[in-house]
Amino acid sequence: MCRQINREGLTVTLDYLGENVTSIEEARRSRDMYRRVLTELERHKIDANISLKLSQFGMDLSESQCRAGVRELAGLAAQLRNFVRVDMESSEYTEKTLDLVREIHALTHSCGAVIQAYLYRSENDVEDLCRRKIRVRLCKGAYLEPADVAFQAKADVDRNFVNLAERLLLRGYYPAIATHDEVMVDAVKELAARHKVGPDGFEFQMLFGIRRDLQKRLAQEGFRVRLYVPFGEAWYPYFMRRLAERPANALFLARNLFRQ
Ligand SMILES: Cc1cc2nc3c(=O)[nH]c(=O)nc-3n(C[C@H](O)[C@H](O)[C@H](O)COP(=O)(O)OP(=O)(O)OC[C@H]3O[C@@H](n4cnc5c(N)ncnc54)[C@H](O)[C@@H]3O)c2cc1C
Repeated sequence: MCRQINREGLTVTLDYLGENVTSIEEARRSRDMYRRVLTELERHKIDANISLKLSQFGMDLSESQCRAGVRELAGLAAQLRNFVRVDMESSEYTEKTLDLVREIHALTHSCGAVIQAYLYRSENDVEDLCRRKIRVRLCKGAYLEPADVAFQAKADVDRNFVNLAERLLLRGYYPAIATHDEVMVDAVKELAARHKVGPDGFEFQMLFGIRRDLQKRLAQEGFRVRLYVPFGEAWYPYFMRRLAERPANALFLARNLFRQ
């Protein structure tokens, strides 16, 4: 599948489904699977990187082992000239996640973060990550967060998304703009043109199978587009988040997840 996506002119980030593991053994299995993925991507010359979650690496069980596992993978990614994106989970993980990404980035540049536009803190985080030249994926945010940490209204989240996208385009290091929202996509295209950021200065990212028309159109216009492709057995939390975003997609998502 990755090869086919590459043939269509798009790149990939692979997500081995799994989060909130309940044993260190499970966390090790995730790490081992990602090791295999990185090695196979290199062997088959596929243009793809990986996305992982700290709760999948056992952050809730042993912070030190979780950090060691991600550090090890980032080291392997650096050797292979590849890249590890640490997905962002709910706000209880934000500080720990950014802290680990900062630590790994200081050792090797093969690791990047995700910033959620719905969090009030994100403007400060974006500025800090830009200063450190850490690659950022910007998304709106997929978890249910309370009003003391996150904007609740779509209009506020969208406004902050554009604000953060502009900061990333101006000062960021190869940012990724992750959205299927055409209004956001158009705003980012307009900002990039205004600030003279060429299409090789950033990439759009979308979930595999969602808004294929828009993915194709952006690629035809010369923009870089990366697809987030989940695989593996632990599909339930991923499926539920996508369902919450768009209930009409239930059948479509189920078909795609179970086909893999
Ligand atoms: C590559 C990628 C990586 C992500 N990584 C993270 C992460 O690490 N942490 C995190 O919290 N969140 C992550 N997300 C999820 C993100 O935060 C949003 O929850 C999700 O992308 C929906 O927001 P939206 O920007 O697409 O627009 P929304 O405001 O949700 O929707 C706007 C419009 O976009 C279209 N659209 C949106 N979703 C769908 C859909 N499922 N099917 C069809 N059309 C749709 C519709 O036209 C909709 O009206 C990621 C998203 C992407 C694309």
